[in-house]
Amino acid sequence: MSGASESKLERRVVAAAEAALARSKAVSPIDVLTGLGWLHTRTVDEWRQGRVAHLERALTARADRLASVLASLRRWAQDNGLRPSETPYVSATRDRGPLRFTADGDEAAELAYRTHWISPDLPEDRRRRLIERQSKAPDLVVIAPLKDWTCTGCHGTGDRQVLEDGEPVCLTCAEMDHLVFLPAGDAALTRRAKKASGLSAVVLRLSRRRGRYERQGLLVEEAALELAEDQCLADEDVRSRRRARDRERRADEDLELRARTAWEIRRMFPGCPAERAEAIARHTGARGSGRVGRSAAGRALDETAVRAAVVAAVRHEDTGYDALLMSGVPRAVARERIRADVDRVLDRWRA
Ligand SMILES: [Zn+2]
Repeated sequence: MSGASESKLERRVVAAAEAALARSKAVSPIDVLTGLGWLHTRTVDEWRQGRVAHLERALTARADRLASVLASLRRWAQDNGLRPSETPYVSATRDRGPLRFTADGDEAAELAYRTHWISPDLPEDRRRRLIERQSKAPDLVVIAPLKDWTCTGCHGTGDRQVLEDGEPVCLTCAEMDHLVFLPAGDAALTRRAKKASGLSAVVLRLSRRRGRYERQGLLVEEAALELAEDQCLADEDVRSRRRARDRERRADEDLELRARTAWEIRRMFPGCPAERAEAIARHTGARGSGRVGRSAAGRALDETAVRAAVVAAVRHEDTGYDALLMSGVPRAVARERIRADVDRVLDRWRA
């Protein structure tokens, strides 16, 4: 490889590494290869699912170019004080076999691939958590296949398959057909069911449009799902009690807000009869939060909003506005016609 093209590749490696570091405070060779566009996320998924014998098979780049990517990454990482962390890669199959990167299994190259580089800025506890997360064995994977397929064990088929030694088998042959399916969507239920289940597997389906595998749900033991459901129901009781308390508190606040609104109306319009001010404030409160008062900025009553509420009330009750609308007069025209009437009432109330 010429020196010019090598330094160009090195710049691209650095750019990909910097992007990954900014994103996740760590960089792996896989991050760089996907960043370079040499490796698709979907391919990485399939390799992790045990469908690809070794990762380099899925890479079209020549071996010397790959070696130079790994070397550039290492150089950049060391120059920038990143800390190496050897990360285990095991497959998402039941045997949890180690995943292979290279065709020949060369130990030095395998180690280079397994080495993640971690930001030196990361505090010790976050660094430890990150390493823990990255080293965790992946969830077992069950695929919801898109195409017709035949089980290697019984020559039957099914709507879900597991890969064993790279071959698809049905859930019965995989001895996983006692598991029940929990569709994705309820995070708390999923987390608890998974925790309670001795065996669980994530069900994935390839989205052709997005070019990656998407989570459909989780297969878990039935007893685990029931336990998780009970826990979530208990939560639901707690939540509904909390909601009732919140409602009461809001009702109190509404009363207080209404009183303050009425007071503000009488301050701005001293001539407004007290019961009218009360009615306007009540109506304004009933119209929901926001019209008057309940702003994010706090409880400050906004004079413009108070005035608008008063104008609206006068328009409907002290003028022929509603009658005009009923008779089919367009709203803008109707407002124009009653403007003087509204102003007269407001002038009187201001006094
Ligand atoms: Zn089978």
